[in-house]
Order: sequence, then C-alpha cells, then structure tokens
Amino acid sequence: MASIDFEHVEKVYPGGTQALYDCSLSVADGELLVLVGPSGCGKSTLLRLLAGLEAPTRGAIRIDGRVVNDESPKERNVAMVFQDYALYPHMTVRENLAFPLRMKRLARDDVAHRVEKTAELLELAPLLDRLPRQLSGGQRQRVAMGRALVREPAAFLLDEPLSNLDAKLRGQVRAEIETLQRRTGATMLYVTHDQVEAMTLGDRVAVLHEGRLQQVAKPRALYEQPANVFVAGFVGSPPMNLFAARVATDANGRPALAIASTLLALPDALLEAAAKHDGATLTAGVRPESLALVAPDARDALPARVEHVELLGHETLVHLRVAGELQWVARTPGMESHARDEAVGLHLAPESLHLFTPQGPRLPC
Ligand code: ADP
Repeated sequence: MASIDFEHVEKVYPGGTQALYDCSLSVADGELLVLVGPSGCGKSTLLRLLAGLEAPTRGAIRIDGRVVNDESPKERNVAMVFQDYALYPHMTVRENLAFPLRMKRLARDDVAHRVEKTAELLELAPLLDRLPRQLSGGQRQRVAMGRALVREPAAFLLDEPLSNLDAKLRGQVRAEIETLQRRTGATMLYVTHDQVEAMTLGDRVAVLHEGRLQQVAKPRALYEQPANVFVAGFVGSPPMNLFAARVATDANGRPALAIASTLLALPDALLEAAAKHDGATLTAGVRPESLALVAPDARDALPARVEHVELLGHETLVHLRVAGELQWVARTPGMESHARDEAVGLHLAPESLHLFTPQGPRLPC
C-alpha cells in the first residue's frame, strides 16, 4: 500500500463553484483516515481528485511521494469502493473476485492464486460459490472490498459505504471494515457525513467544512480540544452547548465569564487568554456530560429550568433553559426523572469550559 499527500489543493468547478480551498492533508501508509463534514463540504471532490476522476485547479496530489496530477485513474491504481457494492448479481463470489483480474488478462493460474489468497485474507473461502443475493450485507461488503483488494491497489477510497444500510447492519459492517483494514494494512480514505461513524472508525479524522479543512486529529483530541467553534459543534452527540459570554472580572480580580447575572469561574489555563479579551463577548462551550444537576439553591449553581426530558434508558438528556436565556442539554447517567418547569441548579467544573474567539479559533491560541 502507499502514503497519500494533498498539498495546497484547490478545486474550482467549471461553473465557478469553489469546492476546496488550500487543502493539505497526509495519510500515512497503512492508515485509516476518515474525512467527515456536512453534505456539500467537498468530501467527494477530494476523493475524486485522488482517484483521478477530477483534476485539481491548484496544488499537488502524491501517491507514495509521486505526483500523480497528470496520471490517469488507471495509472494511479487506487480502488474506489462504492456504497452499493456494485457486485455482479449473476456471478458467484469467486467470479466476482476474479473479474478485475480477467479484465487485466492475467494468466488463469495467477488469477486463481490471487483469488484464493484474497478469499483467505477476508475469510471468504467458504462463500466462494455463492451468489451475492445469498450473502449478508456485511459479507457483500467484504466481497466488494475483496474485489478491490485482488487488484493490489495503492489505497482504498470509500465514499459513504454504509449509507444504504439500516442502523444495525451499519454497526456490523463498520466493524468488518475496521477489522479488514487492520488485517490487510491497507491505506484507507473513508468519507462520511456521520460524525459518530468518523469518531468510532478513524485512526485520525479530518473535519471539512465549506471546502476548508478545520482540524485533522485523533478522535479523542477532536472531542477534547476542538480547534474551533465549527468542530466543537459538529463532533459529539448531543453537541456541545455553545453560547455567547462576556469576559468580566470577579470579586477577586480574576477573569470570569458573565452569563446574565451569574459569573462562571474559568480554569487557570484560560485566565491569561481571557484577560486579553476583557469586556469582549466570546463563544464558550460546555459538553452535556460536563453539567451536573444540583438543587436550585446550591452554592455557585447556575439557575436553570427543565424544559424537556428524554429518558433513553442508559442515560437521560435534560433540555434546560439556563439563566433565563440559554438553551442547553445536560446528559446524566441512568434514568433521572425531572418535571417540566422544575427549577434546578447547574454545576460545571471550570476545566470543562471551552473558549473560542469571535472569529472561531480555540483559546488559548
Ligand atoms: P460532499 O461530498 O461533501 O457532499 P461534494 O464534494 O460533492 O461535497 O461537493 C462540494 C461542492 O462542489 C458542492 O457545492 C457541490 O454542489 C459542488 N460540486 C460537486 N460536484 C460538482 C460538479 N461536477 N460541478 C459543479 N459543482 C460541483
């Protein structure tokens, strides 16, 4: 397999739509990188540029260090795996696997050998004589991957491979893809609009928004240290509670966040950065699980009112109106019953606060 590099890649379509702006991204040999972002952010464009189905307007694309901008899709030897599997329904698994090699006019023995090797690797050997309709969704996905793998491609490109599956099957096939990637050591670029899928699958995740890369990081770093307001709001379900708050000074002269008539203490790590924005309104954020519901008269509690409760069994989502003006969601473990309109207090550890400048980047920066 091979490494992949995008260097300052831009794409403007003939109609004038700019789909990508100055994108630089590297995928290491054997890495599974997930590209995630809302519909229309440029994910498919990036894949199509790598596969050679579109040409970049600016920038270089490298496969294993070699600039491939002028190479045909065939020369690049990357395998696109599509969401509908595109298996031939009238051919057995064996014939489906052999087909791309026959097209290359490989010798019969060579074809048989490669098909067997691939079937063994993907645990498809017992299924070789079945037709696609005699397979489960997960097995079909494996055959589609196998058909790409027999060609010994430099990398796999997967464009929303699970979007046609129901929720249960999606989890199963996702696990299969992950196992497969680990077993084959394949370099994979996996595109999805689903942040949960991205977070559970990727070694690293690249977040794309309106044609610009926002952050490329391990799932945990994306969650704990989102680089900007967009990533903070996109990663996590339910999303981070984001709100405007003014930087004020508390009775001890320390910077704090003013929400209505309440002051929220800031963690030590943010004091210096916040002081530079004294009097300014910043965007602050707190994750639903960082909020604790306490008695309304508890010390230092933010006043809140329960608006709606979602009992999910293993956890409860409590929708709140905070300080009379903000809409937040708190996530508490187990089943916690709260009445609509109940007055509660909210505690949050200062360390759980995220702070962003009005332009969007995370503080301190
Ligand atoms: P995603 O895969 O994230 O949904 P796309 O890469 O398909 O996004 O599209 C990015 C932007 O480029 C969108 O605004 C889309 O309308 C535009 N676009 C995609 N393909 C073409 C095309 N062939 N011609 C013109 N505009 C296109």
